[in-house]
Amino acid sequence: MTVVLVTGGAGFLGSHLCDRLIARGDDVICVDNFFTGSRKNVGHLLGHPRFELIRHDIVQPLYVEAERIFNLACPASPQAYQFNPIKTIKTSTVGMVNMMGLARRCGARILHASTSEVYGDPEIHPQHEDYWGHVNPVGPRSCYDEGKRIAESLMMNYHQTHGTEIRIIRIFNTYGPRMAPDDGRVVSNFILQALQGHDLTVYGDGTQTRSFCYVDDLIEGMLRLMDQDQQQGPINVGNPVENTMLELAEAVLGAVGGSRSRIVHHPLPQDDPRKRCPDISRAKQYLNWEPQVPLVEGLRRTVEWYRQLLQNAT
Ligand code: NAD
Ligand code: UDP
Repeated sequence: MTVVLVTGGAGFLGSHLCDRLIARGDDVICVDNFFTGSRKNVGHLLGHPRFELIRHDIVQPLYVEAERIFNLACPASPQAYQFNPIKTIKTSTVGMVNMMGLARRCGARILHASTSEVYGDPEIHPQHEDYWGHVNPVGPRSCYDEGKRIAESLMMNYHQTHGTEIRIIRIFNTYGPRMAPDDGRVVSNFILQALQGHDLTVYGDGTQTRSFCYVDDLIEGMLRLMDQDQQQGPINVGNPVENTMLELAEAVLGAVGGSRSRIVHHPLPQDDPRKRCPDISRAKQYLNWEPQVPLVEGLRRTVEWYRQLLQNAT
């Protein structure tokens, strides 16, 4: 039995990761400060003999024993990470130093949830891991983007200085059940708007692109990265199928079916990346991984979950 620490474990991705770890027999310590996560996301695991939930903020030192650490703690939606940008930076810097110190003391392997945002508004397309990115260091997204970049640097330096075993996953836009309904991300916004008959709010002209990965695929890639013994450098994990936001809006309307909603346009937020698509050749090579769930199927499952959520709320 492996003792695994998951920070941010009560969040969207973290809770799915905890499910998979428990299912495969690991002993899971889930740590969260509940800023964007919720006890409800792991409610079904409470009381399980191999699951422990600790309310804790990783900006404060943490003293536990673990063999593996998945560091996912950090708000992920632009609305959430810009709410308190200084706290966001502290989580990715001070919090990261705490997690690296913990990994070093325990001799644990640590995986960090990095992001496609390290590429900023990319000039290279699709984005390969060797691309250094194009980030505005003083823009509204910088608290998140630069925080994640310094976290990657910290990891490489701990690896080079102390031999700490590190895994850096650069996650591209991922969606699925348990995304917080109010977090402002595009998939949750569009689905809730379509289910409630509200207009779908496309920012800008809707020609900007993202590549959407279903949560189960992402978690599979994350586990494979943690478990492989070779690659210390960053690896992109995401779906290489690219869609405009207008295409996504149409796909959501199709998945919901019979919605009265129309598509309306709102101003594009500052520094919103124009395009984003992962080059996943490294993930294919080292992890033998590529996504299995197409957008139509992933949206169907996600819509079903939100439909249930709305029904339970009434
Ligand atoms: P989320 O907001 O649902 O989960 C983040 C979790 O971390 C929440 O439960 C939150 O309460 C917790 N948290 C935040 N700050 C903390 C702190 N200081 N101490 C302890 N807990 C803290 O977001 P998510 O989509 O599940 O993202 C998880 C990780 O994956 C994040 O690090 C995010 O940057 C990264 N990521 C996600 C995506 C995506 O598309 N979902 C894309 C790229 C990167
Ligand atoms: N977006 C949109 N309508 C919304 C929310 C977001 O058109 O209601 C756009 C946003 O401007 C961006 C894309 O969708 O171009 C993805 O936004 P999200 O916040 O989900 O993720 P990120 O920008 O971090 O990739």
